[in-house]
Amino acid sequence: MSVTTSRAPSAEVYRIDWVPGTDLLHGVCHCGAEHDAPDPIELWDWMLAHPRGHEKERP
Ligand SMILES: [Zn+2]
Repeated sequence: MSVTTSRAPSAEVYRIDWVPGTDLLHGVCHCGAEHDAPDPIELWDWMLAHPRGHEKERP
């Protein structure tokens, strides 16, 4: 499953992909931040909370 959602007309593009072999969904915010969650609602909550929790993670 692969879902691409555009929120026209701005450049705010969110992407949600299913991670094969797992129960996880992988979301990418328009700012480039990435987040994994098993629940699409949780993932959308994270995306719509931008910029809260969207800092780039540094290992
Ligand atoms: Zn963001």
